[in-house]
Amino acid sequence: MTDSLTNALSRLSEAASALKMPDKSDALTLLASRDERILEVVLSASHFRKKYFANKVKLNYLVNLKSGFCPEDCSYCSQAKHSEADILRYPFIDTELLIKEVERGIANGAARICLVASGRGPTERDVNRISEMVREVKANHPTIEICTSLGLLEDSHAQQLKSAGVFAYNHNLNTSSEYYSKICTTHTYQDREDTVKKAKNSGLSPCSGALFGMGESDIDIVNLAEGLYTAEPESVPVNFLLPFEGTPLSGFAALTPSRCLSILSLMRFYFPDKEIRAGAGRETHLRSLQALSLYVVNSIFVGDYLTSTGQPGENDMEMIRDAGFMPVTPDGAESTSGRIPQSVKVESRKRGPGARIV
Ligand code: SF4
Repeated sequence: MTDSLTNALSRLSEAASALKMPDKSDALTLLASRDERILEVVLSASHFRKKYFANKVKLNYLVNLKSGFCPEDCSYCSQAKHSEADILRYPFIDTELLIKEVERGIANGAARICLVASGRGPTERDVNRISEMVREVKANHPTIEICTSLGLLEDSHAQQLKSAGVFAYNHNLNTSSEYYSKICTTHTYQDREDTVKKAKNSGLSPCSGALFGMGESDIDIVNLAEGLYTAEPESVPVNFLLPFEGTPLSGFAALTPSRCLSILSLMRFYFPDKEIRAGAGRETHLRSLQALSLYVVNSIFVGDYLTSTGQPGENDMEMIRDAGFMPVTPDGAESTSGRIPQSVKVESRKRGPGARIV
């Protein structure tokens, strides 16, 4: 027996096989599917994850170079100008600390280091400083991929970063053009699109994704996916709102684990052969279904996020290995990090019946 979801998944798979943009109504049918059908959705999307990435998982490590003090008003962001969130706020870290952080990321299995700085966009001085930092990192770790995420970009800045050894530039479209003014008034969707284009035109690998769970509708999600498709990113981070206390979206809870899996699966149909990364909010919103996301995405962050704590790197490695996936080094070879332990320790029960303290 076939029904609307089965038919939609079949057409979404046909479009993905031909690397074509999915039909809007099929995308909406997927998003409207009920939680009890989530395994069918994940299974359909997983074919493309397997086809293009086998069982490989790329790990990425975030370094927040400069935190807080941003003049922009993105309502979802704990670093925005009106944010009263209890986060670490600091000016640019120095190169010595950056190198330590990079080494921590590499020790956790990272193949890509993402250098992020809060702000509307980098100044000339910022770009000079970051270019120097990147040269230093590359001199010590020539194979590590460096991505920078510094806000709205000038063409000359993009070229300078590229010459310094930056591989990718991240700038997320975040939400649909129609919904954008609801989440930010100090810059526009168009500004964001322009920056992705500038990064791409300068030879930087465009990394652009989204943030979900901010009150956007299903049609916003589909319009955003289409906007990203047009922007042609090579990697697509998919973040889920972390509603910090002290921000306008404080405590906002619009996501369930199944909803997150539906969104990730949808993105796989739009980007069957691209790196899709489960980003911020993975632990909070996917919760006990985190491992299922690995059947759809081929990339995750390891360690902490910009202003929130991530789960310990060993738990990520355990999840990856337990689910039959394999972390990879920057050149795609199997990473030796987090091998499954050869011995198991059992802890005997010391509480409850028979114990002195019941
Ligand atoms: S521009 Fe970036 S750092 Fe600034 S408020 Fe928006 S998301 Fe946060």
